[in-house]
Parts: sequence; C-alpha cells; structure tokens
Amino acid sequence: MKFPDSLKIGGHIYKVEFPHAFEEEDQTGVCDYMQGVIRVSDVYKHRKRAEQRIKSTLLHEVFHAIDHIYNSRMINNSKKSEKTIDSLECYWFQILADNDLYLEDDFKYPKKVRIGGYDYKVEYPYEFTEFQDKFFKLFVEELRILISDKDEHGNFNPSLCKEAFIDGIMRIIDGAYELGLDNRSSCSLSEGLYQVLVDNKLCSFFRGK
Ligand SMILES: [Zn+2]
Repeated sequence: MKFPDSLKIGGHIYKVEFPHAFEEEDQTGVCDYMQGVIRVSDVYKHRKRAEQRIKSTLLHEVFHAIDHIYNSRMINNSKKSEKTIDSLECYWFQILADNDLYLEDDFKYPKKVRIGGYDYKVEYPYEFTEFQDKFFKLFVEELRILISDKDEHGNFNPSLCKEAFIDGIMRIIDGAYELGLDNRSSCSLSEGLYQVLVDNKLCSFFRGK
C-alpha cells in the first residue's frame, strides 16, 4: 500500500504522517488543522490493523479537513459531529472501494454505482425532455441517476456534472442513513470530496488498485 505523503485539500497542503504512533493505544487517526497535518496509525491496541481499516481512517480524517475548509465546520459544530464523520467515512469508503467513478475522466461515467446493497443505474448523457431545467435527477425508488451533458444553450461544464454526480450520491446516503446534512452542507462536502479525490488521484488508492 502506497500511502500519500501529503494531500491538497482546498488551497491547503496537508502533510500525511503514516504510520504515526499515538500515545493513546486506541487512537487511530487525527486531523490537526492548525499544523496542517493528518496522522494515521497502523496499530490499534498494539495489534496490526487491516489495510482497508487504515485507508478508511485516512478518509475519516480527510472528511474532518473538508468540513473545516469547505463547510464552515458545520459538522464539527453540531452535536453529532463525530458520529456524522464516522458515517461519511463508512458509507463513502464502501462506495469508493466498490466503484470506479471515473472522476478524473470528465466525460466517462460508470454504468452503475453500488451504494450499500443497491445498484443504481447511471444514465449519461441523459436528455431531459420532461424536466426542462434539470441537468441532474435522482430516482431513488427506481435506482436511477440521470445526468445530462447539455441543454438547448450548449454543453455543461463537465466537472460541474461530476460534482453533481458526487452530490447525488451524497444525497442518497444522507437519505438512506439519516446523516442529517442540509442542502448547503451536502453541496459543500461534495465539492470538497470531488476536489480531494481528483487533485490527489485517490480513487484508485481507495479501490485498492
Ligand atoms: Zn474523527
């Protein structure tokens, strides 16, 4: 497993220290905003951790940093802050481990996305005739994600479509697992996650490829 030495999160460069030895035997990670450092341990109570658990901890700490930089610390300042970050870590780790979202390829989308136990069909480029003002729509009960690449005025910014795709997945997990994100937080976290994954080429890292 090749661990990143640093991560670009928003305009900030975070140093990544791995493996870090914490004094508390049950601590596995920390995100220090003031120092701009993420620390991750490869042991828990003196026993070696599995590779996927270690990667998942990195994602957890990245979500803390995204909340800080993109989301005005809305999660950090809420009552269930650690639980919300735990949930984001858990659900997004599954999505990133199980799917190639083609985030670095502007015009390519997976045919389907596995989210929890469900396979969502991704329809791209979808021509919206029934919803004129849309470029993105979710049908959770039908397990369909529709994304358009243009309207009558021209082509959409492809990275905007990719970010909407991430935000759509964020809303699916928010709805299914009651993360309690409001619209603004969902958009902000999605924008941050998209940036971190693409700028640091982390998708293949989480997929284990
Ligand atoms: Zn945490």
